[in-house]
Formats: sequence, C-alpha cells, structure tokens
Amino acid sequence: MKIGIVGCAGRMGRMLVQEVLATEGVELSGGTERKGSDAVGRDLGELVGAGAAGVLVGTDPHELFRSSDAVIDFTAPAATVQHAALAADCRCVHVIGTTGLTAEQEQELRDAASRTAIIWAPNMSLGVNILLAAVEQVARALDPDYDIEIVEMHHRHKVDAPSGTALGLGRAAAKGRGVALDEVWCKARDGLTGARPRGEIGFATLRGGDVVGDHTVIFAAEGERVELTHKASSRTVFARGAVRAARWGHGKPPGLYSMRDVLGLE
Ligand code: NAD
Repeated sequence: MKIGIVGCAGRMGRMLVQEVLATEGVELSGGTERKGSDAVGRDLGELVGAGAAGVLVGTDPHELFRSSDAVIDFTAPAATVQHAALAADCRCVHVIGTTGLTAEQEQELRDAASRTAIIWAPNMSLGVNILLAAVEQVARALDPDYDIEIVEMHHRHKVDAPSGTALGLGRAAAKGRGVALDEVWCKARDGLTGARPRGEIGFATLRGGDVVGDHTVIFAAEGERVELTHKASSRTVFARGAVRAARWGHGKPPGLYSMRDVLGLE
C-alpha cells in the first residue's frame, strides 16, 4: 500500500514520514510542501533524519494523490479542502488531521466524501478517542446540575482555539446530554459575564511552551467534581493513529469516517 504525506515538513508531517518509513507493509509514495518551502527538492528520509528514502519533497498534490492509495494531511484548512477534492477525483483515501475548519469547509469535506473514503478526526490518538466515548457516557448519566467545563493546553505555535479536540469533547458531552453544542457552548469568558447558565458547556484555552496536547473535561456539581483527563506527551500517537486509519480506509466505500470507526468504538 502506497501512502503519501502532504505538508511533509511540518511538525506532524515529519512524524508521519517517520511513521510510514517505519511501518511494515506500507510504502512512502511521496510528500508535498508549499511552493517556496526550504524542504522542496530534499530527500524525504533525510528530511526526518532517517537516511535517504529515494523520494523527494514535491509541490504537486495532484500527482501525489494520483500515485498513492492513501494520503495523510495535517496541513491547514484551505489546503485540506483543496486536497479533499483531489482525493475524490483520484478515488484516493484521504486521512485528515487538520483542525480549525469553518462550517463551510466541513461541508466541502462531506461533499468530497461522497466520492471517496475520508477519515477525519481532530485527534488521532487511541486515548483521546476512548476519552470521547467516556465523556459521552458520563454526560448521559449526570444531569445538568453537573456543570461541564473543558480545559485544554497546547504549545505556543498552535493557531486555532479552542482546539479541535476540545470542541470534539464538547460535542461528545452535548450528544450525551441530548443537546446541540452550538446552542449551549461558551467558548471564552471575559469581564462581567453574569452567573453561569445551567446547562452551559464552557471552554478554557491555555497556550505555552512545547505542550503536545492536554485536555480535561470537568463535571462540577455542588459537593463533588468528576474530571476526565488525557495528556499527549509525544506526537507519535497521532502519527501512529493516522497510519492505522490510512490502512483501515484502504478498500472502504466512499464516506466520511472518524477514528471511532477505525478503532471500532462506534
Ligand atoms: P505545522 O505548521 O508545523 O505544519 C503544517 C505544514 O503544512 C507546514 O509545513 C506547511 O508548510 C504545510 N502546508 C500548508 N499548506 C500547504 C499546502 N497547500 N501544500 C502542502 N503543504 C502545506 O502544523 P502542525 O503542528 O503539524 O499541525 C498541522 C495541523 O494538524 C493543525 O491543524 C493541527 O491542529 C493539526 N493536528 C491534528 C492532530 C490530530 O491528531 N488530528 C494532531 C496534531 C496536530
């Protein structure tokens, strides 16, 4: 099975190249970067310190999608939407980890998924996907006297907030409660906010240093508090999950799938 990596010189892109090179039964078909990136023209293996792989970093995603069974994409929202259309044209499996998409961009992914298998998850780690299932279950069991707050921390370079994972955890909690997240969420607080409305799902965002990704979902009532936490200490967990998703997607019919499908948690 041939797997390509778009955005191969990014923080996640490099981890993905390493993971594909280290995985038996899969072959690295290539990688792309933005035009003008210093990485263009370099050997992909050398780029990640794994020795020459004989594949160079290119700039043509169409060529990469045409020559791959699956392409893994941790880039940026506008690029990911364009890549999804190419994946659909080439009937190539598209594994998407990019976060921060608008509702319109999410719709474009759904449109592309009518023609090819797209696996899209704001967090590809096994632990977070188990946490998602647990949060839904706890939210179902506890009534809205338990205030739900979601706290996340990431490294200083992250550009979107709250994180895609935090929003995913919010959606899981809202689903457990039988409400729509965008009707009850409070994504940030500042100044004289008034008392907390019953049933609200709140978010708090911290940024700093090199934190890979910490998420805690708090259920706080009078007299007790339940806290469910996940901490990622290495990006390897996301890369491993993404390669697993690419292999799982090989031969699957068109559709928009999640990591919960890949891990059999649905
Ligand atoms: P990064 O900025 O280090 O890497 C992004 C790379 O994509 C850069 O090298 C950039 O040049 C490249 N790129 C941008 N547009 C491109 C295009 N049109 N063609 C080719 N390459 C292009 O960022 P990162 O930390 O690696 O994160 C990337 C995305 O992945 C973010 O949205 C982040 O939130 C998300 N992420 C998701 C997970 C998950 O498990 N789903 C985990 C970590 C990060």
